[in-house]
Parts: sequence; C-alpha cells; structure tokens
Amino acid sequence: MRSAKAMRQLMTDYYTGAKIAEADGSKKIAWITSGGPVEPLHAMDVIPIYPENHGAMLGASRMSVDMCQVAEDMGYARDLCSYFRGDIGSAVTKQSPIPGGLPKPDFLIACNNICGTVTKWYEVLSRFFDVPMFLIDTPFIHQTKTTQSAAYVTAQMQEYVDFLEQQCGTPFDMDRFGEVAQLSMEGVRLWNKVLSTCENSPSPISCFDAFFFLGPIVTLRGTEENNEFYRGLLAELEERVAEGIAAVDNEKYRLLWDNLPIWYQLRPLSELFSSYGACLVADTYTNAWARQRIDPDNPLESLAECYTQIYLNIDIEIMAEEIKGLISRYKADGFVLHSNRSCKPYSLGQYDIARMIQEDTGIPTLVIEADMTDERVYSEAQAKTRIEAFIETLESKRQ
Ligand code: SF4
Repeated sequence: MRSAKAMRQLMTDYYTGAKIAEADGSKKIAWITSGGPVEPLHAMDVIPIYPENHGAMLGASRMSVDMCQVAEDMGYARDLCSYFRGDIGSAVTKQSPIPGGLPKPDFLIACNNICGTVTKWYEVLSRFFDVPMFLIDTPFIHQTKTTQSAAYVTAQMQEYVDFLEQQCGTPFDMDRFGEVAQLSMEGVRLWNKVLSTCENSPSPISCFDAFFFLGPIVTLRGTEENNEFYRGLLAELEERVAEGIAAVDNEKYRLLWDNLPIWYQLRPLSELFSSYGACLVADTYTNAWARQRIDPDNPLESLAECYTQIYLNIDIEIMAEEIKGLISRYKADGFVLHSNRSCKPYSLGQYDIARMIQEDTGIPTLVIEADMTDERVYSEAQAKTRIEAFIETLESKRQ
C-alpha cells in the first residue's frame, strides 16, 4: 500500500526531529505513557516520545528479548511488562532500531489509566535520566464515573499545565491548546473512519495492517501531519473498497482480536489466518485510540474525562459490552483473545470476557497464550494447533 511508505517517512521525520532537538536543545522532549494526555505537550511545542511505541519497535525488529535480558540481569523480574524491560535494556545499552536509542527526555509524564506498571517504570526512568516526572492518577471506573473522580482528575490537569509551564518556562496558551484539541479530535475521527472501512465485506485491510498504521495516532495525535496522513490512508482504503480489493482473498470468516499485537509474529499469524480465508477485521487495541474526544470549548474537563474512560481503565462488564458492539458492527464470526503475559490489566479477566461473549453472542472464542514482545513465552506450534482447531469450529458452525 502506498500509505505504508508515507507512514515510514512520517515516523522517520518524527524521530529525526526528536534526535535533532536532543542534540541542539531547540525543543523540550517529554516521554509519555501511551494513555497519557498528549495534547498539552503539543500546545507547549514539546516533542512527545512513547517508550511503549519503542517497545513495539523492539518487538517487531526482534531485539526485545536481548534488551529484556539486560533488564533481568539488572535485577528486574521476568514477570514485569516486556515493554518496560525492553525500554530499560535499551536505555542502558543504547541498542535500538533507532540509531543511538530514543532521544533523552527532559521530563516524564506518566498516567496510570493503562496500568500500575507505568508508575514504577517512570520512577525508574526519572532516577536513571535524573529528570522530573509528573504522575496523573485516574481512578478506575467500576460501573460509572463519579463526580468526585471527575473533579479529582480535572484538578490534576490544571497541575499538569502548571508543571509544563515550570518545565518550559513559558505560559500555557489556552487558545493554542484549543487548536490542538481540534486537531486531536479530527485525528481521532479520521482514525475511526479508517477502522470503519473494515465494516465492508470483504475488508480492505486486517487488524495486522491496523496495528502497523496505528503509530501516528498514538505518537502524533493533535498535529496536522497526523491528520494529513490519515486523510491519505482513508482515501486509499476507500479506493480499495470501491475496487473490491480485499485484505484476505475469498474472505470466509471475519474475526475480532483482543489485546496487544504479538509484534514478532505479525506476518506468520496474518499468513496463517489468511490461509483459512479468515480476516481479523477489527480489534479492541487499535479501537482504543478511536475514543478520545476533547471538547475545545471545555478542554481541561473533557481532557480529564476522556483520559479517565480509556479502555484499560474500565471494568470487564463494560469491556464485554464494548466488545459485543464491535462484534455486531464488524459482523464478526469469532473472537480471538491474545492472553498477554506482559499486560496484566488487559489479560486478567479475559477468560471471563470470553465466557460472557460466548454466552451472549454464541460466537466461538479462541485464547492464544503469548507475550507482545518477549518471544520466549510463545510456542508457534501450540498457537498453530489451537488456530486450526478454532477454524474447524467455525467451519462446523457454518454447516
Ligand atoms: S502492562 Fe500493559 S498497559 Fe502497562 S505498559 Fe505494559 S503493555 Fe502497556
């Protein structure tokens, strides 16, 4: 796809710009967690860097195990998230798909709306780089969000603004923030439309492509470059739909994926599912970035609201409802859950979710045991056997 080339260029320019800023000090650099509110950073012209995105790059380039081993040799337990272990290993050794490793942060922004790991991870980074860290604490949503929780997180957004003013030495410009919020909303709208093209049958791309195209909405959300890229991708996908170009030839089964990708297995898994005419048309992971909506007229409150309600900060009953919504929207015949050893908040409860989905929708479910970047816990042969049995179940339901 021509958009793949455009995306590689966009991401290369982004990391090159950050490396230049690291060298000449022309801009501040902040490392931020994947669920962190990035829009205030763009409003202050700070370059956001995502160690989790880097962790995915380590996984896809098959460098993660070596970097995890470095962290384990430093005393970090193998049970900890492999993004954390890979990141620490890379920070220490400077080995990375990015020459010289990630540009050094001037400060750190951690938001615990995705997990508790990031709190400790960023404390380690803060000591390692000797830079300040700002933590945003978002209470978990059990059934509904409380007014106390909304007020608590909104107050932290104001403190976040104060922290940025201190770090950057310039006042926070609310008008500029409103513009970034508009750009962010437009980016999220475009990403949603990109994913929606997979409602077509046959689907023009699979979730393996969506995993690849996710980079800009995570790292550049709130910028015009991001929106320009997704306008191009959307146009290309609409062309594919109009011309009947399918991700999987003779699409027979439409499946939904849960949890992070298995980054080192994207191609083999994509080819294996395709060989059975099975297309993974949607996933809960990339949809997580189709949810953030900031109201430019009410920026701090809406920032607090949308970043508190993200997918990993809600209980499994709400998750199951969202999954049922995706199954119906994408007309999925089956549900594939990656039980991810690294990501406990995503994986605990998956067996309950699988049971709920099976009972409520009747579609078959499959659990694949793996880790998003630590290949040592993945058995390709076992996954293949389970996938083959799952396809047989799907086939028997058709007859
Ligand atoms: S535990 Fe999960 S949510 Fe937390 S950093 Fe690791 S992959 Fe991300």
